[in-house]
Amino acid sequence: MTPPDSIKLAIVGSVGIDTIETPRARREAILGGSASYGCAAASFFVPVGMVGVVGDDFPQAYRDLYARFGIDCAGLQTQPGKTFRWSGVYEQNMDCRRTLLTELNVFAEFSPDLPEAYRRVPYLFLANISPDLQLHVLDQMTERPAFVMADTMDLWIDIARPALDALIARVDLLTLNESEARMLTGEHNLCLAARKVLAMGPRFALIKKGENGSLLFSDQGVYIQPAFPLESFDDPTGAGDAFAGGFMGALAAGDDVGEPALRRAMRMGSVVASFAVEAFSLERLDGLTREAIDDRAACFQRMVHVG
Ligand code: AMP
Repeated sequence: MTPPDSIKLAIVGSVGIDTIETPRARREAILGGSASYGCAAASFFVPVGMVGVVGDDFPQAYRDLYARFGIDCAGLQTQPGKTFRWSGVYEQNMDCRRTLLTELNVFAEFSPDLPEAYRRVPYLFLANISPDLQLHVLDQMTERPAFVMADTMDLWIDIARPALDALIARVDLLTLNESEARMLTGEHNLCLAARKVLAMGPRFALIKKGENGSLLFSDQGVYIQPAFPLESFDDPTGAGDAFAGGFMGALAAGDDVGEPALRRAMRMGSVVASFAVEAFSLERLDGLTREAIDDRAACFQRMVHVG
């Protein structure tokens, strides 16, 4: 077990039980949630602590899985009731996903309470949950972390804009997918959209383009990172969270928040996400070694190297 004092990165987000249908398979009641993917991905790089909530129906097998990753669960509350449930279906090309069901359950009354040791962590990832809760976590930090990254989704852009604006002003990096960036800023062109995000406060805007990679915008310009090319994958759920967790883990491990370090961390995030989508839930990350991640990262670097 990791002593809470050595936690370098805390991740707050959803922990859920997912049912997922792809053109090839349907899997019921598997472990999901932004915090599950984010923490598992980060655990390959640094000691990570999870902040979230589950119901009293949460299977022990999933707690055992978190323990195998070495994830500290001091910030994972258990409340009477059912765990968050989500269900989605992917279309033939896996590009489009429809949500079939969202049951908030214990999430509806969730108030994240940071364990004492997490209030001083240098790296904080506010994965996708309501911006009010993300702000509540930020308010509990006793010291300004070296780097705070936040994720969000169309729902919050739609229904919680004032809280989201307040959050964006206080983070170092905001990550969005293409459609969220357009929705947030009203700009179709992603360069203009990113410019508007940066004007809202963060030093960095990271726009994810799925299998087309991601773009990192700052006042230095834009850095383009392709996605690791895969011949086949099973389930894209949680790819963004695995990317973000791997990115923050790699950043925290290097303890450097300069732009070159962010670029390296993006490469590691892409590599961990590429493993995550090869199977459902955390199945591919379970048992994966740091050596396998580093090998794929080296291969990736050769792929993108010119000259
Ligand atoms: P992603 O593929 O990055 O959108 O993340 C998928 C994960 O997000 C799934 O495992 C779900 O359990 C979780 N999820 C789905 N809807 C929500 C929501 N409204 N708030 C928080 N997490 C969610």
